[in-house]
Amino acid sequence: MDILVTGAAGFLGSHLVDRLLADGHKVLGVDNFSTGRPGNLAHLAGNNRFTFRQADITCDHIEISSQLDRLYNLASPASPVDYHRLGLETLDVGSAGMKAMCELALANGARLLQASTSECYGDPAVHPQTEDYYGNVNPVGPRSVYDESKRFAEATVTAYHRYRKLDARIARIFNTYGPRMRLDDGRVLPAFVGQALRGEPLTVFGDGSQTRSFCYVDDLIDGLVRLMESDAGAAPVNLGNPEEITILDFAREILKLTDSAVPIIYQPLPQDDPLQRCPDITRAKKMLGWQPRVGRSEGLNRTVDYFRQVRGG
Ligand code: NAD
Ligand code: UDP
Repeated sequence: MDILVTGAAGFLGSHLVDRLLADGHKVLGVDNFSTGRPGNLAHLAGNNRFTFRQADITCDHIEISSQLDRLYNLASPASPVDYHRLGLETLDVGSAGMKAMCELALANGARLLQASTSECYGDPAVHPQTEDYYGNVNPVGPRSVYDESKRFAEATVTAYHRYRKLDARIARIFNTYGPRMRLDDGRVLPAFVGQALRGEPLTVFGDGSQTRSFCYVDDLIDGLVRLMESDAGAAPVNLGNPEEITILDFAREILKLTDSAVPIIYQPLPQDDPLQRCPDITRAKKMLGWQPRVGRSEGLNRTVDYFRQVRGG
């Protein structure tokens, strides 16, 4: 198949490109490098089934030269540090960018998958989060540039499906980790691992009782591909690992894994930081036959090894 991946130079996008090429497809990658890096795709130089174009999906025309069967839309700043820095761009990519990608998919008869997020649930009152929960998002808080952009993008995809018969899928992705995350992207895993490897204190925000559940990248990519190729339709599907952990326990795990004795220090909890997050993956299990396979200790070991390598030891 001919497949377009936007956000191809990012953490998830570059792993998705690898998987699609390994499955024998032709892939066009698009990215504006606002948070991604050319280095994530460097190993694909010379692969004649991969083409790359530097473009901004909110405003640049993306020329499709032959045919397009699938469009995975992953372009968007994703870490809190990135979307705070790029607030207006984040709103643009979920609105103008999303609309442009729906039009592109429609014009080419392609199926589109939107990379949405558990942030659509905000600071959730329902736990674990099921897809039919509408969420609890502060529309004017600091996270709203991301949360509302992603919610608007879901509304856009759904409207294109409803009114224009766009063949669409929506993945609500929960916290995912693995090699190729940037050490400086501010997300909790690279933050803690980076601090431990540099011998600095680990910065736990709040009292560390807030929870997250971490999915290894290979599992998540497999879920995205299964969802794209399923007959699940346009209803959102949660993809994530349902094994929940407090951030304080997560910090302790990282200390152990990195064999580090640095202290944990506490800093203020950012405004609207969700206090609990865990996916209910019943729908993904039923519709896709999918569930995560890589346990946290195995996934963390692989990721810490990667960070050690990029730091040079
Ligand atoms: P990332 O920042 O590593 O990748 C995003 C990529 O999109 C980057 O390469 C960036 O340069 C590119 N991009 C941003 N705006 C663009 C634009 N206007 N035009 C073209 N390219 C643009 O983040 P990631 O973790 O790989 O996330 C990928 C997608 O998955 C995002 O849409 C994100 O919201 C979603 N997601 C990720 C997670 C996670 O835990 N990693 C969780 C939920 C949702
Ligand atoms: N966090 C933390 N210390 C850090 C970075 C993050 O305690 O140095 C916390 C953050 O407040 C949140 C959780 O870890 O409760 C996950 O944060 P992240 O930015 O990775 O993603 P989020 O799930 O909030 O989008």
